Amino acid sequence: MRFLVLSDIHANLTALDAALAAAQGHWEKAVCLGDAVGYGPDPNEVVDRIREISAVTIRGNHDKAGCGIDNADDFNPVARSAAIWTQQQLRPDNTEYLKQLPTGPLQVDGITIVHGAVADEDEYVFAPAQALEGLLESPSPITFFGHTHIQGGFSMRANRVEALHFKPPAGKDFATLTTEKDAQYLLNPGSVGQPRDGDPRAGFAIADLDHNEIEFWRIAYDVTAVQQRMAIAGLPEPLILRLAFGR
Ligand code: ZN
Repeated sequence: MRFLVLSDIHANLTALDAALAAAQGHWEKAVCLGDAVGYGPDPNEVVDRIREISAVTIRGNHDKAGCGIDNADDFNPVARSAAIWTQQQLRPDNTEYLKQLPTGPLQVDGITIVHGAVADEDEYVFAPAQALEGLLESPSPITFFGHTHIQGGFSMRANRVEALHFKPPAGKDFATLTTEKDAQYLLNPGSVGQPRDGDPRAGFAIADLDHNEIEFWRIAYDVTAVQQRMAIAGLPEPLILRLAFGR
C-alpha cells in the first residue's frame, strides 16, 4: 500500500493541487492529519478536494475552530480572526464534514495518524524528549503527525530517540527514508499549505509500506496567486507575508 500523507493544508488550494499533481500515480490511499482549513483563502475548495480524493482525515485544532467545535479563545489574534473568517465562509455541508472528523490517533491499514502528539491532539512535538512518549505508546511502528508544520520527525531504536531531517537532493523533488524493522518512527510529512521550516514549497509524504520507503516531498507552487486571494478576502497581513518565507 502506498499512502499519500497530507497535513496542515490550511485552506491553500493552489499548494494542495500542486502536491496532488506531483503525486499523481504514486499512491493508492490518501490520509490527512488535520488542519485542512484555517489561515488560507480556500476553505471550501480544500475540503471539497479532500472529500473528492476520499482522504482518511482526522481533525486538527483549526478544523475545530473553523467548524465551531472550539471557540479559538487560545488562538493568537491573527489566527482567531482567520478562524472567524473561515467559519463565515464554510458551506453548511463542509462545516458538518469538519464537525464529524474523528480525533487521532487513528489506525489506517498499518499506520497510525495523529494531528499533534499521540496522547494529545493539540500538543506540539518539536523535540526528541516530546517525541519519546508517542514513540513508546503508538500502536504501530510508523506514526504520522502534523501540527508543527516542520517536515521530518523522529526514530527510536533500543529506546534511543533520534531527530530526522529531510531535504530533497539537488534536482530531485523528494528525499527518501528507508525504514528499519526494529525501529519506531514518528514522522511529519510537512505542511502542504503553510510550511514553517524556511522552505516555502508545499510539503507532503508518500509512504510505500511494502518497500519500507517513505518519500518526503517539496513542490513549488504559485505563492503569489494565494497571497492575492488572501488580500482580496481581507485576511491578516502577517498570514499573507509568511507564505513567501516558509515561516
Ligand atoms: Zn496547522
